[in-house]
Amino acid sequence: MSHLKFIFIAIFSLIFWAGFAQETHNYYDQIEKIDYDLSNNDPYKAIQKMDKMAEVYFNEEDIYFARGLVKYYMMDIYGARDDFKKYIELGFKIETGWLKAIISDQFLVDLFTEHYYDTGKLYPENGYKKQYTIRDSLQGALRPERTCFDVYYYDLTVKIMPKTKSISGNNNIYFNTLASTNKIQIDLSDNFIISSIKFEGKELNYERYYDAIFIDFDKPLLSNHRYKITISYSGKPRNAIRPPWNGGFVWGKKRSKHWVGVACEHLGASSWWPCKDHLSEKPDSMTINVQVPSKYQAISNGNLQSTYAIENKYTNYKWHVSYPINSYCVTFYMGDFVNFNEKYINSNGSYNIDYYVLPHNLKLAKEYYKQTKEIVEVYEKLFGEYPYKEDGIAMVESPYEGMEHQSAIAIGGDYGKSKRRNYENKDYDYLVVHELAHEWWGNTVTMSDMADAWISEAFATYSEHLFMEEKLGYKEYLNATADNMSMIFNIWPVVGNSDVNDNTFVGGDIYHKGAAMLNNLRCIIDNDTLFFNLIKKFYNAHKFQTITSDDFINFVNEETNMDLTDFFNKFLYDKEPPILEYEFRNKYGNFEFTYSWINVGSNFTMPFSLMINGNECLRVVGTSEKQTLKLKSVNTFILPNEFMYDESCLIKNSFTYFWTSWKQ
Ligand SMILES: [Zn+2]
Repeated sequence: MSHLKFIFIAIFSLIFWAGFAQETHNYYDQIEKIDYDLSNNDPYKAIQKMDKMAEVYFNEEDIYFARGLVKYYMMDIYGARDDFKKYIELGFKIETGWLKAIISDQFLVDLFTEHYYDTGKLYPENGYKKQYTIRDSLQGALRPERTCFDVYYYDLTVKIMPKTKSISGNNNIYFNTLASTNKIQIDLSDNFIISSIKFEGKELNYERYYDAIFIDFDKPLLSNHRYKITISYSGKPRNAIRPPWNGGFVWGKKRSKHWVGVACEHLGASSWWPCKDHLSEKPDSMTINVQVPSKYQAISNGNLQSTYAIENKYTNYKWHVSYPINSYCVTFYMGDFVNFNEKYINSNGSYNIDYYVLPHNLKLAKEYYKQTKEIVEVYEKLFGEYPYKEDGIAMVESPYEGMEHQSAIAIGGDYGKSKRRNYENKDYDYLVVHELAHEWWGNTVTMSDMADAWISEAFATYSEHLFMEEKLGYKEYLNATADNMSMIFNIWPVVGNSDVNDNTFVGGDIYHKGAAMLNNLRCIIDNDTLFFNLIKKFYNAHKFQTITSDDFINFVNEETNMDLTDFFNKFLYDKEPPILEYEFRNKYGNFEFTYSWINVGSNFTMPFSLMINGNECLRVVGTSEKQTLKLKSVNTFILPNEFMYDESCLIKNSFTYFWTSWKQ
């Protein structure tokens, strides 16, 4: 389906609306001509006519609005902003959110702040980042008290008390020292009481600074030795505000039964259990005992090893994870669940897929989860075998939207009924497609700092698009790509600040712009075999590790034999995308198009698409140097973007994300 017409009709109707108040014939006639240009894929003529109108009717704010709109749809964002500002200067009272969003970063930042932060306004002086505190550094940075040891096993027990919305428990932390030390840092939210920290039968002294616990040993621990400490604690965990993004505990109820869960990415696992709460830390395996009132069940990561009654009508569910796991992926679900399962068979053997759902949703869930195997199959083909075969896959109905908890994925999206962000093909729900992708990206290949959280979200989002391509073809990939591009905000660089537990989720560019970056990378490489091998090789070279953005950049540069540093600098470290600056002449169809990328490093090279006469597309490669393209028999042209494109015409690996600037 072509999206060109739809956009131009939308623009026309707005222009028509804008011109409605005008009584003069002439004004009305000109608007009709502009509409003609737009519906003939010639926004340039339309803009030139509007320029002339602006000279005559310079006090008519509607002209600026209409011209701004056309420029916006051409991705000339600076041009659009100038026109919209003029529109407002001339007296139009700005009401609509989307117009405010185009003009003002602050407007968007304020919206995001409401969603992602509890309090506080963010200002441009700080790059719209919060004022980091000691608390953030204690959580986000690696001091010697953390780098001196490496956890290899956690044995955690947590008792869930829904009546009082509180928990109590203990964690046996097994670690290997990497340097001799008499002090280590463990993390636990300061709203918990610590009853004891024990080592070799004796209680240890400790000091708490915010959410960090500095534990003292009487004698220095030797380097390269294994030790174990046990921390016992209790208290009320933080309630989630907007899980999973503003996380914590969700004390839900359904049909008068408790339904409890926790999502704590970015907030940190130390919001509910004591651990070395830094993304660079993954234990090799973990045991999770969850104790719940006996009429409920507790589902957690890995495999259920045993279930036994304990005191006061409570039951202990002992789960075991046989692989490295991120602390934010450790979770539990308490509720009244029914279970069904299936076997996934591949060429190496088989593993279990378990589903835990609320009883009244059983029928719906069985229908809904028919997609799971198909999704896993695609990801195994693209990236490699499912990484947690021993633990199997599980999907658990959660009292919040969703979260990629390793081998116990939270799925709370009312089984696709909402269709909130669904694909054109209704057989697949983005929630399952997205969260499953995280088992490879995020859970297995993990960022070592929140600054690099795009490694998890960009790859998971891009995996959705690759899944679409595998199942529904390249055209559907292009539609998913365009849809994704339209959600980019460009307020913050994709890579955030290191060592401060930066909330890089805010605004969502780590998802959408990150995925667009991967699409653009594929377009630059312009060799799908090489690109898909590159992604698969990168995954397999880094699985079960924690990595940084540089690890990816260096890997791509080496594998492709290209120096893409300026490309990555632009898309990961700069807040705005590259701008294609261009001018053109067209004399009786003899078309000369001069173009270059601006606001980029001197080594920046990226293709873009050029559509001529409304039906023919070219793949053109731009650099930071001006180049001129000469074509014959050209009547009209556009630069396809997320608002204006025709997926049946686009040339492979030409549809990239960028802004434009037409030098008239
Ligand atoms: Zn995600």
